[in-house]
Amino acid sequence: MLRDGVISAVGPAAKIEKLKESKSAELLELDGRVVLPGFVDSHTHLIHAASRAEEYDLKIQGVGYEEIARKGGGILNSVGKLRATTSQDLKARAQLFLERFAEYGTTTIEAKSGYGLDLTSELRILSLHKELDAEQPLEIVSTFLGAHVVPAEYRGKPNGTRDYLRLLEQELIPDVGENGLAEYCDVFCERGAFSVAESRQVLAAGKKHGLRPRVHAEQLSNTGATRLGIQLGAASCDHLEYLKPVDIRALSKSNAVATLLPGCDFHLGLQKYAPARKLIDSGAIVALATDFNPGTSPTLSMAMVLSLACSQLRMTPAETIAAATINAAYSLGRYKKVGSLEAGKQADLAVFEVADYREIPYYFGVNTCWLTMKRGEVIHMRD
Ligand SMILES: [Zn+2]
Repeated sequence: MLRDGVISAVGPAAKIEKLKESKSAELLELDGRVVLPGFVDSHTHLIHAASRAEEYDLKIQGVGYEEIARKGGGILNSVGKLRATTSQDLKARAQLFLERFAEYGTTTIEAKSGYGLDLTSELRILSLHKELDAEQPLEIVSTFLGAHVVPAEYRGKPNGTRDYLRLLEQELIPDVGENGLAEYCDVFCERGAFSVAESRQVLAAGKKHGLRPRVHAEQLSNTGATRLGIQLGAASCDHLEYLKPVDIRALSKSNAVATLLPGCDFHLGLQKYAPARKLIDSGAIVALATDFNPGTSPTLSMAMVLSLACSQLRMTPAETIAAATINAAYSLGRYKKVGSLEAGKQADLAVFEVADYREIPYYFGVNTCWLTMKRGEVIHMRD
């Protein structure tokens, strides 16, 4: 039972029908469809200017992701395009994506900056997160990812990286913190991006200004970023394809969520997926997210991520659903409000046109979402 956008009671029909409130309630007939908490997508790069379909063609022909990046493609390609795009156009594009997220049953997303990489462009992205959060139904949790890569204008200069880090530490992060433009500070700790020492510097500056750490860790190599994240109290360590046993043990003893992004490996055609089974069996908190972005994971379908997690990560359908709802909500500090169907929580629901919840990942690449509700309001319904 729902009331004023909140779940007021949960249970078998016979029990709910006996409640006094039921007499005046309106019945929404679901005809045996499956109801889940709305998906919480805890890792996206929502704001970007264009797709990178041209690079997709190269990748299929065998050119590596890092090689494309070295030639000015990859993240820097998206940075160039974003800087040349007006906020109005960026917003309109994001708005369309948010509508599509809702069509797939997602009701809360995290969104990262990181395709601006200069003062104005990064602040433009974060301001758009705030505006979109206020103006449309999906909840947007904002993350500052100024440390995505070193931008082109700082590269090849004697102290380029140091100077860029100084801009982040002394100007951008204080500005973001003071104006409440983000809740989290993220860093891409990887060869070709930022070292562990540089990542520590960025995340520590973020903490000083009230931004909790998240970290892109062990995606293409093992750098030690996971242990750095845990040391600094990160809410989440994301990717984790190259985890070592020592990292798995550390995660299992921490409250940092291991956020796995199999869409990325699938799109890039990489065979190495994160060790989900070992993480779950050792007691780590595992979440799943789309990593929606134009370079490595252009999908906003959480159901497709669930399918990949079942077939490639060997997670059970039930485990994938917990990972894409309550565990993801925990990583975003919102588990008391969203991520499960319990009395007192927000009425964020996704209803699927299936007879059994396992059919959601089973029908891979098929959107079975029939209805989506945010705070009790229907935001998507299939005809
Ligand atoms: Zn990412």
